[in-house]
Amino acid sequence: LNLALHAPFGIAGGVQAKVENVLLTVEFDDGTIGYGEAAPLPAYNGETQAQALTVLDGARAWLPGLQLDDWRAAATEFRHRGGATCGSAQCAFETAVLDALARRRGEPLWRFFGGAGVTLETDMTITTGTPEAAAEAARTIVARGFRMVKVKIGGAGPRHDLARLQAIVEAVGDVPLILDGNAGLTRAEADDLVRGLKDSGIAPTLLEQWLPKEDLVGLHDLAEHSGWAVAADESVVTREDALQVAHGQAAQVINVKLMKAGIAVALDVVEVARTAGLGLMIGGNVESVLGMTTSACLAAGLGGFSHADLDTPLFLAENPFVGGLRYDGGTVSVADITAGHGVSPRAEGP
Ligand SMILES: [Mg+2]
Repeated sequence: LNLALHAPFGIAGGVQAKVENVLLTVEFDDGTIGYGEAAPLPAYNGETQAQALTVLDGARAWLPGLQLDDWRAAATEFRHRGGATCGSAQCAFETAVLDALARRRGEPLWRFFGGAGVTLETDMTITTGTPEAAAEAARTIVARGFRMVKVKIGGAGPRHDLARLQAIVEAVGDVPLILDGNAGLTRAEADDLVRGLKDSGIAPTLLEQWLPKEDLVGLHDLAEHSGWAVAADESVVTREDALQVAHGQAAQVINVKLMKAGIAVALDVVEVARTAGLGLMIGGNVESVLGMTTSACLAAGLGGFSHADLDTPLFLAENPFVGGLRYDGGTVSVADITAGHGVSPRAEGP
């Protein structure tokens, strides 16, 4: 699933010039078809399209005949047979199976996940780059009706990031900001940036994963010293990771992404966060409407997600699919979906 981007997607760990994802199709013996997407993002966690293809291709040998009615058992089987090495492939498999199961029942995935709601309010992201580019992007985002702006920071030093953030505020005023470091700042850089922001009178809504994923003490101290809420993203892949963040009071919010380790694990992480009283954010890699609709169905259906970062279909220059989520400014709606995630390849029709 190779797709062109309007512009390169830059984060602290590197730049994604084009999307190299994988589309998975599963077919049940009654002919029901389900679709899943793997969206490996090398700059995020090192996963590649080649790895996802290897794991998914490997499943051809053992999948035929497998009972898929118990999707969690099937997910466990897949994890043991390679999914543990590639979260995006695991996600593609679980998405396709759940899509087929829900299509067969005529049930939309947002209802399958709990039916709590059908809309979310998403941010839109300003990727790494110059202060001028950041200001221009901010103007466009606000003009499109988004009320929350996420800014990718880290990798080029706190002085550069502060200049970008000042340029954004100059361009669009006091818009709520989520600052995502993608684990790319040191503690000293984080302290410098907090000081610079306070001196500039900029108070972000959320500091997302500024520090390396294993630095839970640093994340805890960052929230305490800044007085601003911290989100853990790279630090939380598994249920055990979420428990560690909760026990260490390392974050106030957990960014849940299906591409990290699949849907079953994401549901476990949500349960840990809820039990610990932590806030929930739904995010993703650089995904097409297929992957992002699945995430929107999960977050809207479960309810209780305070932050949504489901904007990457808007960065794509092409959409090979029909169906799925709809954007109205910053509002994401899955209300039109009648079965599964509702996304099908364009050539085959809805
Ligand atoms: Mg993040």
